[in-house]
Amino acid sequence: MNDTKRFFTDCILTWNRLHNSRTMPWKGEKNPYRIWLSEIILQQTRVEQGWPYYERFIGAYPTVDKLAQAPEEEVFRLWQGLGYYARCKNMLAAARMISSTHKNQFPKTYEEIAALKGVGAYTAAAIASFAFNLPHAVLDGNVYRVLARYFGIDTPIDSTAGKKLFTALANEVLPKDQAGAYNQAIMDFGAVVCKPQLPLCSSCLLAPRCEAFQKGLTDLVPVKSKKLKIKKRYFHYLLLEQKGRVFIRKRTGKDIWQNLHEFFLLETSAPATDAALQQSAGFQSLLGHLDYKIVDSTAEIKQQLTHQTIYARFIRLQVPLAFNAPDGYQLVTEKQLQELAFPKIIVDYLQR
Ligand code: SF4
Repeated sequence: MNDTKRFFTDCILTWNRLHNSRTMPWKGEKNPYRIWLSEIILQQTRVEQGWPYYERFIGAYPTVDKLAQAPEEEVFRLWQGLGYYARCKNMLAAARMISSTHKNQFPKTYEEIAALKGVGAYTAAAIASFAFNLPHAVLDGNVYRVLARYFGIDTPIDSTAGKKLFTALANEVLPKDQAGAYNQAIMDFGAVVCKPQLPLCSSCLLAPRCEAFQKGLTDLVPVKSKKLKIKKRYFHYLLLEQKGRVFIRKRTGKDIWQNLHEFFLLETSAPATDAALQQSAGFQSLLGHLDYKIVDSTAEIKQQLTHQTIYARFIRLQVPLAFNAPDGYQLVTEKQLQELAFPKIIVDYLQR
């Protein structure tokens, strides 16, 4: 390791020892199950939002076998509101794999950990280093930023070349005997000192040798090549009511909100009024021949996901007994609605 790299590693460790006061419930945790749980919950989720979920999951399932044995519906219900439900599905599959293949013992090697469903390179490195001090460097948004700025690297972090370069560099500056402490330290450093906006350069230990600071490039690195494309989707939920009960189904297929429940959904490519919706082919084939009554309908409710913006409207309809719901739908009572897991946008509507 050259002098510039050694200085970097030493400063991160020194900062951690003397100045790092960032607290999180899982910090210093050595139990791989708890670390894994926290990392899965924190994927795409802010710490403040994930924290209470972590506490709830640990409370309900203190060990991996307890989680593995839990009914799917119960686990999804506990996850409700966190979003990215594929995480929950993968988490449960991984818990069941640990329970069956590894006899309830959390795997202890990087390769075995990385083979668990829903565990990518970052999460595997975090668990391997925090729980077992294995020498694998974590690479998340914070680490990319600190490395890119200090070493003045403008290779896009989302390019193949960038990923290779940053992975090699992160592993080179990792102190092999303090992998866990260092990995936590560099992520904290990125969150607290070398922040995306207004980094604390004037008090930063790395400043004397930081390329971005010395050359005034802190706003320009790290570089990303792709712009995130956000798709707009228009959901019209029909609450088809029969004698005080409503039709719902479980979402399947490769779309958002897998395994969560929903009302009858008509999706359009642009906003649609009730009148326009009633003329659509989907509505006509469902109810066109029947005597239904619209009870009320809402304005659009918006939910922002990473790659999509969902605009949802809810339309309550009373349908006659002659109505036959399409395959996959079931009639449920209001009480049953409260026991099932729904996407956040539907939970928000129901709570209103
Ligand atoms: S000097 Fe500024 S840009 Fe450089 S590592 Fe420190 S906080 Fe980040």
